[in-house]
Amino acid sequence: MKEMTSGQVRQTFLDFWQSKGHDVEPSASLIPKDDPTLLWINSGVATLKKYFDGTVIPKNPRITNAQKSIRTNDIENVGKTARHQTFFEMLGNFSVGDYFKKEVIPWAWELLTSPEWFGFDPDRLYMTVYPKDTDTYKLWQSVGVKKDHLVLAEDNFWDIGEGPSGPDSEIFYDRGQGYNNVAEDDPENYPGGENERYLEIWNIVFSEFNHLPDGRYVEQPHKNIDTGMGLERVVSIFQDAKTNFETDLFMPMIQEAEKLSGKKYGANEKDDVSFKIISDHARAVTFAIGDGAMPSNEGRGYVLRRLIRRAVLNGKKLGIDKPFLYQLVPVVGEVMKSYYPEPLDQKDFIAHIIKGEEERFQATLNDGLDILDGRIATLKKSGKTVFPGEDAFKLFDTYGFPVELTVESAADEGLHVDMKGFKAAMQAQKERARNARKDVNSMGSQNKLLMDIKDESQFTGYDELTTTGANLTHLIIQTTQGDQEVDQEVAAVTSGQAELLFDKTPFYAEMGGQVADKGTIEDDQGHVVAKVTDVQHAPNGQNLHFVDVVGNIQAHHAYTLKVDRPFRLAVRKNHTATHLLDQALREVLGAHTHQAGSLVEPDYLRFDFNHQGQVTLAELQKLEDIVNAKIFAEIPVKTTETDLETAKKMGAIALFTDKYVDRVRVVNIGDWSIELCGGTHVKNTAELGLFKITSESAIGAGVRRIEAVTSQAAVQYFDQQLHLLTQTAKIVKANQLQDTPDRVAQLQKDARETEKELAALQAKLAAQQANSVFDHPVEVDGLQVIAAQVNVDGMGALRQMVDQWKSKQASDVLVLATAANGKANLIAAASDAAQQQGVKAGNLIKAIAPIIGGGGGGRPDMAQAGGKQPDKIQDALAAVKDVLVKEK
Ligand code: ATP
Ligand code: MG
Repeated sequence: MKEMTSGQVRQTFLDFWQSKGHDVEPSASLIPKDDPTLLWINSGVATLKKYFDGTVIPKNPRITNAQKSIRTNDIENVGKTARHQTFFEMLGNFSVGDYFKKEVIPWAWELLTSPEWFGFDPDRLYMTVYPKDTDTYKLWQSVGVKKDHLVLAEDNFWDIGEGPSGPDSEIFYDRGQGYNNVAEDDPENYPGGENERYLEIWNIVFSEFNHLPDGRYVEQPHKNIDTGMGLERVVSIFQDAKTNFETDLFMPMIQEAEKLSGKKYGANEKDDVSFKIISDHARAVTFAIGDGAMPSNEGRGYVLRRLIRRAVLNGKKLGIDKPFLYQLVPVVGEVMKSYYPEPLDQKDFIAHIIKGEEERFQATLNDGLDILDGRIATLKKSGKTVFPGEDAFKLFDTYGFPVELTVESAADEGLHVDMKGFKAAMQAQKERARNARKDVNSMGSQNKLLMDIKDESQFTGYDELTTTGANLTHLIIQTTQGDQEVDQEVAAVTSGQAELLFDKTPFYAEMGGQVADKGTIEDDQGHVVAKVTDVQHAPNGQNLHFVDVVGNIQAHHAYTLKVDRPFRLAVRKNHTATHLLDQALREVLGAHTHQAGSLVEPDYLRFDFNHQGQVTLAELQKLEDIVNAKIFAEIPVKTTETDLETAKKMGAIALFTDKYVDRVRVVNIGDWSIELCGGTHVKNTAELGLFKITSESAIGAGVRRIEAVTSQAAVQYFDQQLHLLTQTAKIVKANQLQDTPDRVAQLQKDARETEKELAALQAKLAAQQANSVFDHPVEVDGLQVIAAQVNVDGMGALRQMVDQWKSKQASDVLVLATAANGKANLIAAASDAAQQQGVKAGNLIKAIAPIIGGGGGGRPDMAQAGGKQPDKIQDALAAVKDVLVKEK
């Protein structure tokens, strides 16, 4: 077989399809655009959905591309199988309602086997076919595929729930028995089985049915072809590499890692896994950051963080103890530059981000790893095989040590982590936090009671604020024996606190930053029987109402539930404003401004986001302008529901969270802001009235916080500001508000002039004092001596007086003292003549400074001292005479 570089393989594929009338589309960003159901672009077709669902009609219905893809669900496979990476390139050809099976199968065969293109030996190729898809079976036969190379596979049907679906055909390359990792007679030893002999290189999907909501499949009027071929797998064949990694796509990074670690690739299997993981993750994070993702604690950012941390851990396994992954960025850039110039162009920025993340992780890791290793060693010594979940949680909670890494490290040593215990510890922690916050007693027993309640409670609050005929299914009160359900129809509760569950409720339970609704519960006479103070999700998801009982309330009776309307209206305005702000931040500061926390209250909203550096006043102004423009444009806010399964199949949201939701809501504001959100929103942005940012600050490394108000609260805020301005205008005696800035500027100018005059007067005063002091020297032992207290404000003024003394040659020795701000200052000076006679200003000061409770020193010609006892100044001056006599 011919040898080909990865660049040649990619180009051959694109050239082939171009020769069949396809347009080459460049690779799209890894970050999905306008597609909240996908975390990452995970296939070639993912970026072409707009064509396949008919929202955009392509210029040419035949398209081919090489698309960067990330599949986090393959993360555990990396390094363990020959064929999986988290980051890979998918080569594809697409037909949007144009050619179909009878064209694509002969073409696929031509590309694979023609000596002009890939030139694979036909005997090496196997195809799987969906059993009912006899057309495809016959078409493969007609191009020359033998029966024993066609494998029927029941699961060859591509279906993501509602929408387009159809059979597919996978192409396998037989790498020969020598490549196999399973025995000849192993049941998995066939094309499509879990083995390394038969390598799946390509999948051709024939999208021909429309899967209807009622479960029926009907033929599509426009049939589509979509295919995906893994570049790295094909390259491994051309370069006769045992796995995807011994190719020109990965070896440069592996070699760099060899240099950094001093270890050799190929020396032992365990190290090889680490080398492979490092080279894969280096590619994934380099490209992801290049496309605008940033490490953080959720969503994409968390995936990045996890990839970087895994790479760091594997570096450690190879003996690399300092940040190193960032050094692979330029290597990745070089390898990929011919088709993807971006990573090399941005290599410094990408390396900077990775290095910072590595450093942060190293710090927490060193502590965590020590503990983990110690724990594993003790467990192994005592013959245990289970790593306690409690300990895994402690590592996670205290050291930010991802549980996946504990699982991996433990598995390396033959231990398995008790995940049940881990989850229980996590749950207990959440409950502790909840208890602390809500200050409720005996939440433990309360929870046990609630955990057994499985009845459904429907949330009606998206559509209405008052729900009538809500049946009180559970009434729980606190008693001395703990929480108890009041179940008998006869028993009524008339006061105190209670927890209520209804079959339906308009009350929103606190979630996603949005606070819980408040309101009242009325009986059929219209009497208020309870006031709702808080609403939280019960263990099984129902909205649990915490109430103060003020009337007769009985289980299994119907009530009218009324959400406090002004409260909810204010909350939902702020929630919609939060979405607008989120999107505006992305526009003004960049796509990296990922949400890091959010609080939606009735009177304000708080939004935390990732961003390095300051946010300028001009940027804040721009944010407000954008949000207000969206408000003034009166844009309808649309919400739609879809099931998570669909979302997951299209590319896993919430991959690493254990949260379970079966319906996801998409909130769409004029296609400008599209977010997954379960909160309540306005129907039209105009309802917000007005948006105003009230503060912006840093709350942690790379995390900033904006607080803002809308509607009435925004008007109030402006009113308050205006009031302050009015007051200021009055104080500065501005005739009109708009004169205030000029008035204040004038007053400042006046103040500066007054200060200048004052300084001049003080200087004059000092000069006058100097004159009177310098006029009366006394004689001590043949020397003219001046020792006096003056009234000036500090050491600076004293030094100025020494200058005057010098120019006047007023005496041989000068000692001046002043008391200012509760302190004493002393300065001494000696003329040349005095110095010749043995007088040193430094010595003089040293001798008298202790008298004023201080110390000091200086040169023979001038010295100074400060002290804490100004009342002793006269004593210090009086001592001058004696000191001089002694000195000489
Ligand atoms: P596998 O069963 O080997 O994981 P798949 O069925 O998940 O493959 P598809 O979803 O059909 O793969 O994707 C089309 C092609 O993309 C595959 O034939 C393969 O060549 C490539 N591919 C898929 N996942 C990966 C991955 N994690 N790493 C490298 N290439 C991949
Ligand atoms: Mg797969």
